[in-house]
Amino acid sequence: MGVVAFVHDIGIRRAKSHDKRTEGTESGSGINSNSASPSLATPAKRPNCLIIKQHVEPVALVHNLQRYYVLLCHQCLQAEILCERVAMFNLYNPEEIRDRARAAFIGMAIGDALGATVEFMTASEIATKYGTFKDIIGGGWLRLKPGQVTDDTEMALCIARAIVKSQGWSPVAVAENFATWLKSRPVDCGDTCRKGIRAYMLKGQLESPPNEWDAGNGAAMRILPAVLFSLPDGELLKKYVLEQAHITHNNPVSDAACLCLGQLLHMAICGASKNRLSRHVDDLVTRFPTFNFVPYRGLATGYVVDTMQTVFHWFFRGRSFEECLVGTVNQGADADTTGAICGMLAGAYYGMAEIPKRWIKKMEPKVIAEIEVMVERLIAESPLGRNR
Ligand SMILES: [Mg+2]
Repeated sequence: MGVVAFVHDIGIRRAKSHDKRTEGTESGSGINSNSASPSLATPAKRPNCLIIKQHVEPVALVHNLQRYYVLLCHQCLQAEILCERVAMFNLYNPEEIRDRARAAFIGMAIGDALGATVEFMTASEIATKYGTFKDIIGGGWLRLKPGQVTDDTEMALCIARAIVKSQGWSPVAVAENFATWLKSRPVDCGDTCRKGIRAYMLKGQLESPPNEWDAGNGAAMRILPAVLFSLPDGELLKKYVLEQAHITHNNPVSDAACLCLGQLLHMAICGASKNRLSRHVDDLVTRFPTFNFVPYRGLATGYVVDTMQTVFHWFFRGRSFEECLVGTVNQGADADTTGAICGMLAGAYYGMAEIPKRWIKKMEPKVIAEIEVMVERLIAESPLGRNR
């Protein structure tokens, strides 16, 4: 039996669209996110089934691929790697992946521009002034133009440009772009980000010292380029996400939020169901109970725990991209960043077709055009793109 035929026989299927996502068709963050891939062995040195089982059992593989691996316990290692490649690069429709990746980046920028208007307001102040706030109108404490983005999107673009210019992952290039951006007098910059970037500018420091107080959301809000460039490799995701985070934020709670969010984005872009995503958040809450968001406390501050609780609450409660985002930003507080993070997650899940056109039309065309180019480049240069 040929390898491709074997894969089809065990029922690996493509995710169709979000509304058809079921437990049987869901996909995940790619292959084998928690374990190292075995090295290629000559036929004479192929391990027996037991070794492959040891390799498989501890990892959180996606449902279909886990089944696939169990079946492969009776195969040689060479066959395993071959099949893994087939599954990794042929399981998903590249057009769907590209669409969800675009929607994640554009969704992030929309959430940033939408939420910035009501940043630092309370939920009741927003309700009194707007009823339900749901249009991109600019203003806010930063006096933005309608559709103007803030540090969330700008720092993400710094990372994207660094990857594209370096043609690879370079924390120095990322930090350089952060420094250039800070010197350009951006419309906003968080205190922890400013401190970390200045430490790079003064001392060349690429990793801030661990700090229990640096648990803001500034590292999580900008992870998307690292997520796209690592698709679908869980180990690369961890490396990129944490290295960019530690330039400014070195804190275990921030790290946990960044990693969980990155993995959720990998899964959503690859077509996972909300049930699957919810189970992944359950794992985070088991390890870090502080992220528990049931019952929802209604806090949406810049503390990454409050931020992620708000995003989780509204993402899992919302039935459309718009519902997720409107619910999130109407909590007020750090609404541009809760909006940006919910926007990237909801965008990755729902895809471009679900993003309201009235919001896309309000965005700065130059920003959207750059995002489109960056997404194409990041996906093309990711393991997924390079191996097609
Ligand atoms: Mg901001």
